[in-house]
Amino acid sequence: MTRSRIDDMIKGQEGLTELNRQTLDCLQLEKLNALLRREKARGGFYRALPEKLASLSELSALPFTTDEDLARHAPGLLLCSQAQIQRVLSDATSGTTGAAKRVFYTEADLENTVQLYVAGLGELIFPGSVTLICFPFSGPYGLGELIAEAITRLGARPIKAGPFLSYGDYAALLERERPDTFVGMPVQLLGMLRVCGRRSLRRALVSGDACPDSVMDGCEALLGSRLFPHYGSREMGMAGAICCPAHEGMHLRENHVLAEIVDETGRVLPEGERGELVITTVGMEAMPLIRYRTGDFTRILPSACPCGSETRRLDRIERRAEGLSAAALDELLFADPAVADCRYDLGESGLSITALTCGEGAEERLLPRLCAAFPALPISLSCRSARPDDRALYAGKRVVTARKDG
Ligand SMILES: [Zn+2]
Repeated sequence: MTRSRIDDMIKGQEGLTELNRQTLDCLQLEKLNALLRREKARGGFYRALPEKLASLSELSALPFTTDEDLARHAPGLLLCSQAQIQRVLSDATSGTTGAAKRVFYTEADLENTVQLYVAGLGELIFPGSVTLICFPFSGPYGLGELIAEAITRLGARPIKAGPFLSYGDYAALLERERPDTFVGMPVQLLGMLRVCGRRSLRRALVSGDACPDSVMDGCEALLGSRLFPHYGSREMGMAGAICCPAHEGMHLRENHVLAEIVDETGRVLPEGERGELVITTVGMEAMPLIRYRTGDFTRILPSACPCGSETRRLDRIERRAEGLSAAALDELLFADPAVADCRYDLGESGLSITALTCGEGAEERLLPRLCAAFPALPISLSCRSARPDDRALYAGKRVVTARKDG
């Protein structure tokens, strides 16, 4: 089995000839101390932290950075001049301040993002491949644009479809361009495969949202190959960890991102235990963060990867959900082979589910299963056949929407 391409990427970026656990730990401590030193010298957001750590284990004594900090102090978190900023991503909502959470990137940050995409996509895309990109295209340095750049560097051809086409338009595109690979969100892929059929598609990289077992199993059965999941968040430049040929977790770009897993009280958990992912993004040029709580739940896989890379691997990711989670509902609904998409609206009268289906009898099969799984919740389910002019029911991450009745 070939080693994860992340090793060669890190060696190239850091000028190393060899990469093992020891070289990675040294590199991380060096970068972390350089960041602490810079913050102290410039009186930055992290100026109150110690100037130097003697070992990586001391990281766990430093305070967390929260979404609130990103909203209130974003310009103060910048380590470069505003003129060097190529892109800003901001959120409409954030905590109690109502201010938008903002994350900034320099050209070097975005180049590192593209290089991680090249490493991750290089596992499934070959020169001459044609790849359907179903992430949004939002102008220079947008997510779709960065993925397209990585695909071009691999000698393959990107088809810039975006996430908003109708099933009919995707079907026409599949027919015309005959892509062999797909890059996009997991449920979107499953919906497309169920409504349009596999056609020329053979392999896929999925990212951007949770991927429940039923969705992954459904995609893999229809594609006839294993999925390549990717994990990234805005705070790590939309690029974090990639799947290798072993398909056992996702290798983290550890020259840029340090990972810890903590419990509810913030205590660091040993390798192998599930908890909240906390990241320290020492490799981000514009806005490195120390101990940022991601709200994503996972674990660091404890054993060595069969591919031979010694970079740490993250297991499957789950989003924090207060109350009813879309992922739990997705797990149940997409296990039915007729379900192409569904959306969830929660109001005072209960949960209302709208599902697009291909095939008969989904409603009769699903309602008893839903009532058994969520006995305390009044549920109404409305299924109808997916039409060519239907689109995915969520444009972004899947959530249970709060609805006002009446
Ligand atoms: Zn591996």
